[in-house]
Amino acid sequence: MGDEPSGAHLGSPEAAFSVLASETRLAVLLELATVTHEHGSGAGLTFSELRRRVGVEDSGRFNYHLEQLQEGFIEKDGEEYVARYPGLAVVSAVYAGTYGGSGLDEDDQTARLETNCPCGEPLTITYESGDDLVAFRCETHGLMTSFPVPPGAASDRSLEALGSVAIDRMLANMYLATRGVCPRCWGVIDVAYPVGPTTDELVGVEATAARVSCRRCWLRYELPLGSLVAAQPVVRAFYREHGLAPEEILFGNNATGREEVCTIVLDETDAPERAAVTIELDDDVLELALDDAAALLDHSRP
Ligand SMILES: [Zn+2]
Ligand SMILES: [Zn+2]
Repeated sequence: MGDEPSGAHLGSPEAAFSVLASETRLAVLLELATVTHEHGSGAGLTFSELRRRVGVEDSGRFNYHLEQLQEGFIEKDGEEYVARYPGLAVVSAVYAGTYGGSGLDEDDQTARLETNCPCGEPLTITYESGDDLVAFRCETHGLMTSFPVPPGAASDRSLEALGSVAIDRMLANMYLATRGVCPRCWGVIDVAYPVGPTTDELVGVEATAARVSCRRCWLRYELPLGSLVAAQPVVRAFYREHGLAPEEILFGNNATGREEVCTIVLDETDAPERAAVTIELDDDVLELALDDAAALLDHSRP
């Protein structure tokens, strides 16, 4: 641990793809990731151990594959080959994208959430395996929101657990966005608001919208600023104090997207504080000050 990464870096997505376009090279990364998991960061395998585990007869050919992977994915440490972080990230992505069997059927399943829609109807959660989405719906209002969940997330989890995972990921990813970090590619995220009034899918009213956009990868979405506020750890703690589960921050009568719960006043001057947010639960108030990228500047309990 602690060593600076060394060696070659991949310059372009195309170069990374061409290195990975080989079953043998992927098998090498899977073996080295297993060794990292079993023996800790920095653990590796010698050429002959690695070749035996991957099952390649021709050592010249195997050496060629290792040379290709040394363009950013693995490195040689003495006699051993060791996975580098980009190589481990490939393995994580492969597992996330791989259906590993679970309590869920191949068919879509639906379960009830504990939280009701503000209209009083129950909210349901469905894992839509064909689209790799978890969808939250009200029978009256239809789709409230959906979140991409790769098949690997369904492994070893019930539908209810998968719903919790989706809500935690949503909140965590939104928090990273307010910190300027893309949760998908680690690139720089820009958050802008207001980007024109939009209908809040979560609560069905007009709301100030924010746009989250990665400068590098595909990630881009719009959502009510009130819902983006839900991701702040101080807001999560406030809800927990009031006995409300994470899903209550996004859905139902107590959602931050609801005007009755959360009011937002925009400052049109050039002040660093761009939005003043007031959240009220059971006559208890939490105030937040946000900058123009929705990052938290300050919070207080008046
Ligand atoms: Zn409803
Ligand atoms: Zn990105």
